[in-house]
Amino acid sequence: MRIETLAVHAGHSPDPATGAVTPPIHLSTTFERRADGTLPSSFIYSRDDNPTRHSLERCLMELEGGAAAAAFASGMAAATAIFQSLAAGDHVIAPLDAYYGTAKLLREVFERWRLEASFVDTTDPAAVRAALRPATRLVWLETPSNPLIRITDIAAVAEVAHTVGAQVAVDNTWATPLGQRPFALGADLVMHATTKYLGGHSDILGGAVVARSDDDFFARVRTVQRTGGAVPSPFECWLVLRGVRTLPYRMRAHTANAERIAGFLEAHSKVSAVHYPGLESDPGHAVARRQMQLFGGMLSFEVAGGRGPALSVAARCRLFTRATSLGGPESLIEHRASVEGPATRTPEGLLRCSIGLEHADDLIADLEQALA
Ligand SMILES: *Cc1c(COP(=O)(O)O)cnc(C)c1O
Repeated sequence: MRIETLAVHAGHSPDPATGAVTPPIHLSTTFERRADGTLPSSFIYSRDDNPTRHSLERCLMELEGGAAAAAFASGMAAATAIFQSLAAGDHVIAPLDAYYGTAKLLREVFERWRLEASFVDTTDPAAVRAALRPATRLVWLETPSNPLIRITDIAAVAEVAHTVGAQVAVDNTWATPLGQRPFALGADLVMHATTKYLGGHSDILGGAVVARSDDDFFARVRTVQRTGGAVPSPFECWLVLRGVRTLPYRMRAHTANAERIAGFLEAHSKVSAVHYPGLESDPGHAVARRQMQLFGGMLSFEVAGGRGPALSVAARCRLFTRATSLGGPESLIEHRASVEGPATRTPEGLLRCSIGLEHADDLIADLEQALA
């Protein structure tokens, strides 16, 4: 089935008890046993498994084309479960420009548990090869990356990683399964912050791990999920399921708007650089064309003159909301260097945008007056 059909139907079916077309939210934490002690279904207790969460996991597994999925209370809880499924002494390779929270987790939490991490430029497969050690068990990828929207060749890195038996995990939050298919490119694990495009409405926190095979490693992820208990509530699972139903159409609209805005910004005299893989001038364009079905709704641009001018452009925006995060219907703009603090590697003139679902002409008019 095509992804539009899966988005509507995967994990969804009329409720057998009532015929309700929209599935109910199963809030119950516990499930009755029959008199003989057996269970009418596989559910016992909601931290272990819950019907609404089960439906969401089924949906995400089918959307990514994986063999198993586990839903978490946030994207970071999903990433944590992957790292906790490794062992002390294992080595992880992660991108230099990994999501801020992922890098912080590796540096500040897992280092103390003797998980070693090297941060390398994953857009260069030779740099990944050079960083491999016999103990390398995981290569973490994020493409497009944050906030420079750089593109890593997933297939090329997977080939390199697999030479030492390391798994490849792709944080597919920004691209979504509409934008790229990590399993088809050789990845072993996909992680999502469902907080972003999958939820799609800036109103829930959630995460997921999807595995290419339901193997021993995934069993450890499942144990961390069920026993560690960083699970999403049934209501949040239901909202993600609802969000996913329109994901294909939202992603196309986010992308169409981002493509137009990237073109507008590229031609603007006060903009010194635009980072968007859909632009032919972008260094990631060739790989993105091979690897992505949609270039997505995230872009960043650099305002000539650096920090001061960039902050005033953000201050003058009326339609773009000055806020972090991404993937909702509303367009957001953010001065990343301010958010990331003194240790940031982000250019001071850079503004990151999550391009929303408003009309592109209105968004361009807003940026035009803000840049004037
Ligand atoms: C937001 C985000 C995360 C973290 O997700 P939370 O739900 O905030 O924990 C991880 N990776 C990427 C790429 C993100 O955008």
